[in-house]
Amino acid sequence: MSNLTPQQREEIIRRRGCRSDKDDEVHRISNLEIHHKDRNRNNNDPSNLRVLTKKEHDELHIRAGY
Ligand SMILES: [Zn+2]
Repeated sequence: MSNLTPQQREEIIRRRGCRSDKDDEVHRISNLEIHHKDRNRNNNDPSNLRVLTKKEHDELHIRAGY
């Protein structure tokens, strides 16, 4: 989840070449999500953002327990 607008989200993903930070592969934008490393959805500093696939993002939060 994030408070980014769909346009901001897409821009961040495109700027990173539509790659997951985790597997470094190119994915469809519809399959990519933005993760906030510090869990603060208002902190949209590029250093706080990770681009992950839906599956990678789900797994990260399941592992973390939230
Ligand atoms: Zn997340």
